[in-house]
Amino acid sequence: KLRGVEDVHLESFPIHDVTVYVLTKDNITEPMRDIRRALLEADVSLPVVRRFVSSVTEKALGAGTIKGVRPDQQLVKIVHDELVQLMGGEVSDLVFSKGGPTVILLAGLQGVGKTTVCAKLAFYLKKLGKSCMLVAADVYRPAAIDQLTILGEQVGVPVYSEGTEAKPPQITRNAVEEAKRKNIDAIVVDTAGRLQIDKAMMDELKEVKKAVNPTEVLLVVDAMTGQEAAALVTTFNIEIGITGAILTKLDGDSRGGAALSVKEVSGKPIKFVGRGERLEDLELFYPDRMAQRVLGMGDVLSFVEKAQEVMRQEEAVELQKKIMSAKFDFNDFLKQSQNVAKMGSMSRVVGMIPGMNKLTPAQIREAEKRLAFVESMINAMTAEEREKPELLAESRERRIRVAEESGKTEQEVGQLVAQLFQMRAQMQKLMGMVQGQEAIAGMG
Ligand code: GDP
Repeated sequence: KLRGVEDVHLESFPIHDVTVYVLTKDNITEPMRDIRRALLEADVSLPVVRRFVSSVTEKALGAGTIKGVRPDQQLVKIVHDELVQLMGGEVSDLVFSKGGPTVILLAGLQGVGKTTVCAKLAFYLKKLGKSCMLVAADVYRPAAIDQLTILGEQVGVPVYSEGTEAKPPQITRNAVEEAKRKNIDAIVVDTAGRLQIDKAMMDELKEVKKAVNPTEVLLVVDAMTGQEAAALVTTFNIEIGITGAILTKLDGDSRGGAALSVKEVSGKPIKFVGRGERLEDLELFYPDRMAQRVLGMGDVLSFVEKAQEVMRQEEAVELQKKIMSAKFDFNDFLKQSQNVAKMGSMSRVVGMIPGMNKLTPAQIREAEKRLAFVESMINAMTAEEREKPELLAESRERRIRVAEESGKTEQEVGQLVAQLFQMRAQMQKLMGMVQGQEAIAGMG
């Protein structure tokens, strides 16, 4: 029995929430609904969203341990990582041919930015120190050839053209020969697009592909087409076989959900994204950045990552051991208080996150004030007292001494000691629950 410390309620110490969080069916339902909505709003197609949500749910339910991060935050991290994986995980750069010129064939509907991408790629290749030539294989629109010629001049690379009379497979074959003769590293072929997928366009692409066996066949997709991107990519991939995609017009309003569908339906990576009309507005595709954009998460991830750093895995395991052996002492208490205050101040940068409440500035100030308050008392304890809180619980003299040294009242010290024991009790109860749930999960 602890003397003088009975009437303290945990609620009065909101910053000492050391709850052991576990993702359960109950606590992920709401956030998963938000995530589902976020994906649909970002124009990810419904079948992709369905598959994604069920796979994340499964992962989340198998993930529950102490992390020092709330379930909704953990969930966002899981969702993010899963999105990154879905989009290929890593950056996927151009592949270059070992012998002879690298042939990059661009395909896509009209108006998606294909011709612009030709010039941007030439610019990119030049920056890599590779010589490059553009090939005008869109023979149906004389304006397309003119446009490519002008762009070629801008970048400072030659443009190969045979006018509008020759056939695209022949033009491309001749262009490859020319590139060989001139020792050019790579050629980028601009092909004809149509307003919609049609047989003539597909047949021609197949013929060009057969004629030159390109190193890369990249489908240019307009990010604004949203959900339709999935069907488009599927068709092109089945009909002609692509090696990757380029997503253009990401500088627009689109949240970029098309990016998720591309990899999902074709298994082929997005290699580049276009973010504007200028030559330099072409960047390699980074799945992690896109995942953040798709979820509209802003700084949330770095917050969650920092929070996880604050409470690193080893630390969590260490803490878990202490909790189980009821050894949680004032040193741990202090560390815990510092963690919570740190996370509080980090939450200042947290923007909108599905299902997560932001701490108010008042709450953050409160957490920081509380930390200073607790710190001064713990600093006034002897090393022995910190490790064995029972000493303080049992001795009024010790509590008075700590109070005097820290400039606090005896009562306040008593409350602090009581709080530690209540936390021990609460944590052990929660540990029992976690182990129970793990046991249940293990039975399945
Ligand atoms: P093509 O018919 O596929 O060859 O398309 P174009 O290359 O002619 O581009 C169509 C229009 O989209 C042009 O006005 C381009 O300037 C514009 N465009 C291309 N890429 C981008 C991009 O990444 N962002 C924006 N905002 N506009 C782009």
